[in-house]
Amino acid sequence: MLRSFAILTLGCKVNQYESQQIRQLLETLGLAQADPADTAQLVIVNTCCVTHTASAKSRHLINQAQKRGPQAVVICGCLPTVETDELKALGENVHVVKNRCDLAATLSRLVHTESTAPDSARLPPASAGVISPPYLHPADAVIRPESDAKVKCEKDLWPSDELPPLTSFHGQTRAFLKIQDGCDAFCSYCIIPTARPHVRYKNSEEILAEAAALVSAGHKEIVLTGVHIGSYGQTTARRRRWPTPENPHLPALLDQVARIAGLSRIRLSSLDPADVTPALLDVFCSHHNLMPHLHLSLQSGSDAILRRMARPYTADDFRAKVALVRSRLDRPAITTDIIVGFPSETDSDFCQTVALAKEVAFAKMHVFVFSARKGTPAARMQPKIQAEVKKARSRILRELDVILQTQFRSQFLGETAQVLIESANGHAGGRAERYFEVEIAGKPNGTYSAGDIVTTRLEENAADSVLATAICP
Ligand code: SF4
Repeated sequence: MLRSFAILTLGCKVNQYESQQIRQLLETLGLAQADPADTAQLVIVNTCCVTHTASAKSRHLINQAQKRGPQAVVICGCLPTVETDELKALGENVHVVKNRCDLAATLSRLVHTESTAPDSARLPPASAGVISPPYLHPADAVIRPESDAKVKCEKDLWPSDELPPLTSFHGQTRAFLKIQDGCDAFCSYCIIPTARPHVRYKNSEEILAEAAALVSAGHKEIVLTGVHIGSYGQTTARRRRWPTPENPHLPALLDQVARIAGLSRIRLSSLDPADVTPALLDVFCSHHNLMPHLHLSLQSGSDAILRRMARPYTADDFRAKVALVRSRLDRPAITTDIIVGFPSETDSDFCQTVALAKEVAFAKMHVFVFSARKGTPAARMQPKIQAEVKKARSRILRELDVILQTQFRSQFLGETAQVLIESANGHAGGRAERYFEVEIAGKPNGTYSAGDIVTTRLEENAADSVLATAICP
């Protein structure tokens, strides 16, 4: 009998969103989150395979989950979609979900079968190809062969056999809301077009209903997320195939979401520079609840490396988009991702990245050391960069990141900021509109609760946050 579950999650905001959907589905099916987690009878491992390290961590979590001795383990997420061979030698109670469209059905069948049948009648692994749609009583289950994750989905919109929409996002004040899935842009280093090949989007009515439910559950901030949200409303992430070069659908959606009553803050997850259009910025300027923060993936400041990465912009394109953003928003936080040590990256290429980072004055850089991902064109590219060179370049950029973050925060000292409280124990703290962390001093424990929005005066830069005093409440 399955009564309790635990979910182990790796990876991006999309995976975190999907883990919440899994939680909600299992709770609907009558299970409760195990406390402590290692007593769970059902363990879900929601994996990531974006880098070799992520794949290795996923396999480690799978081993740990099996060692806990649960009744069943379900492996889902990106790793099974690209590395099923490595996941074959697993215990009999391990169910590998290769096609994520099958996950809801697999879970509902597993819960029902484990809860009602003797051990001898338990389900074969989901990968054996027997599935039913979610929320059907098992007696009504439709048996059909497992579909192939690599076959292009014909549907524009979200498939019907998905996990449920979220009504709450446990464990954090900021809720992620997936509006889009899939990418077929094939940047040369990225495995995602293999792991999530179907480019599709949720219709706006569903998104608005989900956002309103999250607000009702107490979430004042929502991050609209997806694999490639710039292609929201399109069935491909390749811009050349869009009817118009600028995508009108993301600004239109954002405009609607911003009108939801009680939604105090909205952010977008990662965008390509080309996703930033005058129409999108018009929407940002029209609504006070759209935070002045954009995450624009740069990856490299060298045009030669950007070409080899198959990224669809140049360093000058990036500069132009940053200038456009700055011309419309008040001192926006522009955050980014950068990969160092891409094959053939010379000292000169790297210096161009450093120079562009200084010029843009990023509010935060996520620095990744290139690691060849099997199955991608970049894994075969030469010359490889020596490990110590990659390490040194990463250190230089991380040190620059600390300086740039401090400079970015400094310009707001003496001003007020609204802080969404995330941690209410000890020093209450959270994030300001421009996403930097703020610690509120001088208030006794228990003054605030997670989810409160507090008006503060920003007093002093600390190592990686700003110290502030509360003005109101
Ligand atoms: S745009 Fe490029 S980096 Fe982003 S998910 Fe698609 S292929 Fe990967």
